[in-house]
Amino acid sequence: MSLPVYKRILLKVSGEALMGNRSYGIDPIVLNEFADEIKEVHDLGVQIGIVIGGGNIYRGVDAVAEGIDKVVGDQMGMLATVINALALQSVLEKKGVMTRVQTAIAMEQIAEPFIRRRAIRHLEKGRVVIFAAGTGNPYFTTDTAAVLRAIEIGADIILKGTRVDGIYDSDPEKNPNAVKFVQISYLDILKLNLKVMDLTAITLSRENNIPIIVFNMTVPGNLKRIVLGENIGSKVVYKVEVSQ
Ligand code: UDP
Repeated sequence: MSLPVYKRILLKVSGEALMGNRSYGIDPIVLNEFADEIKEVHDLGVQIGIVIGGGNIYRGVDAVAEGIDKVVGDQMGMLATVINALALQSVLEKKGVMTRVQTAIAMEQIAEPFIRRRAIRHLEKGRVVIFAAGTGNPYFTTDTAAVLRAIEIGADIILKGTRVDGIYDSDPEKNPNAVKFVQISYLDILKLNLKVMDLTAITLSRENNIPIIVFNMTVPGNLKRIVLGENIGSKVVYKVEVSQ
């Protein structure tokens, strides 16, 4: 049996990934599939932190368009991530995976507040920790929250689950000739203005030299394959070491 190459991972799941084919909200089938993927990796003994987005329910940018104050809109977006976190928690626990939700905005009747040392303790005990409410601050994204939490908990890697299978030089859903990067540096993402993560998230990950793998989370088994060391998706690193 092969062994996992990572001891502790931070999985970033975007809110949009949870929508499936719906135009908003949570697709219960997709949620279930994601939970199965996570359980598979948990069964290998890998410690798992998860940052979940909220774009399937609410986005700060939409708020402004609707005449809502930007900061209020961002707060609504952060609350949306809590809804997703609770849904994922519930489904994971039904499958026998012990979890904790920690929120960056205090709501103690619902979840624990984010306490770094406590999060690490949960991970050591084999509980999946779902970090909700982003960074707790407006003007940030859950991608930045993912990088921040990954660094704080000392994760080996950030795994960004999306609906495409990696980072391309142009949008593969629009351009059939788009070329995929096997590896790419943080700086090239910034230089080429690729929409992998927002600038704050990329900068923070570069400053702390934490690698990121962008992969297709909708393909069953992909998460496990990555954890077992298969080269899937695109890896963001300080210095590219492979020929593309
Ligand atoms: N958000 C925020 N601060 C954070 C994280 C998120 O204000 O630290 C808000 C922001 O309005 C964002 C929304 O929450 O649009 C949902 O998060 P995001 O768009 O990152 O979710 P995803 O794209 O991953 O679904």
